[in-house]
Amino acid sequence: EPNRIVSGERRGEDVETSLRPQTLDDFVGQADARSNLKVFIEAARGREEALDHVLFVGPPGLGKTTLAQIMARELGVNFRSTSGPVIAKAGDLAALLTNLEDRDVLFIDEIHRLNPAVEEILYPAMEDFQLDLIIGEGPAARSVKIELARFTLVAATTRLGLLTTPLRDRFGIPVRLNFYTIAELEHIVKRGSRLMGLPITDDGALEIARRARGTPRIAGRLLRRVRDFAEVAKAESVTKQIADEALTRLAVDQKGLDQLDIRYLGMIAGNFGGGPVGIETIAAGLSEPRDAIEDIIEPYLIQQGLIQRTPRGRILTANAWRHLGLEVPRDLAQ
Ligand code: ADP
Repeated sequence: EPNRIVSGERRGEDVETSLRPQTLDDFVGQADARSNLKVFIEAARGREEALDHVLFVGPPGLGKTTLAQIMARELGVNFRSTSGPVIAKAGDLAALLTNLEDRDVLFIDEIHRLNPAVEEILYPAMEDFQLDLIIGEGPAARSVKIELARFTLVAATTRLGLLTTPLRDRFGIPVRLNFYTIAELEHIVKRGSRLMGLPITDDGALEIARRARGTPRIAGRLLRRVRDFAEVAKAESVTKQIADEALTRLAVDQKGLDQLDIRYLGMIAGNFGGGPVGIETIAAGLSEPRDAIEDIIEPYLIQQGLIQRTPRGRILTANAWRHLGLEVPRDLAQ
């Protein structure tokens, strides 16, 4: 469902640039990732060397692109950006790589979606800063080596398991991003409303934060929708009541779950007695691609303690039954 308001994936309406933090200090949350990156950036600057290749892993909307941009800025180098599915041919990647200057940051979003022929030429580029290209076809084909600038590849993926092992092994600095706490999201909502010139009360910001699925992109999106309601209601500021009314109208519940999440939980409860159910069965039942379910729906449900992944499939926790307003099955109720 591309129109889910609580999807962490980027959408056209998300005006990302205006709310994007510009420095590591401005970046809220992800304390471990931030302090590690700070050290690596400082060390690379001190040695006047390219930073080691960095791999960001985490659900959409947690700030991977933002951090990549901040890194380039703090390193004082150019930022070039592309994404796995956009690089169709080896030549496309070659063109990008040969245009890089020393220590530049090349950001590749969704790196797990690179085509294998492109991935092949990325290996020597990452390891030896060399391009091995085959020019021509058939008997006339010959291979040429091109020296590249010593660049830093910053890549992003939603799940580590989607990457091939040789690609994964070539990143010196893997960084996992986690869902944000409600306090961090509250901070992000307040910062966003300040930048938008929108007055908001503490409990108004808290209400949006609680329903933002641990994800800054969703927090920003909910804030913009709530602003619409506040304007139409001619409210002086976004209060808890306004936020609650707006988000309830948008069918985002107290935990930040939307109708798709509820359908997911409701199907396992209603059709499968709470599980275990295999992911393929769930995907078929919801008519949603398996990837989308694993990348976007499940991580938050797991983090909220509503489902568990077991070797035999997904099972609902007692919390999930309660959240659905259903009686907890006897074997789950302690
Ligand atoms: P990803 O690349 O992981 O999908 P982005 O970096 O594009 O996520 O971030 C999505 C949106 O959330 C952007 O508008 C960005 O400004 C905002 N954002 C992400 N992380 C933070 C943060 N720590 N503080 C404030 N805003 C953030």
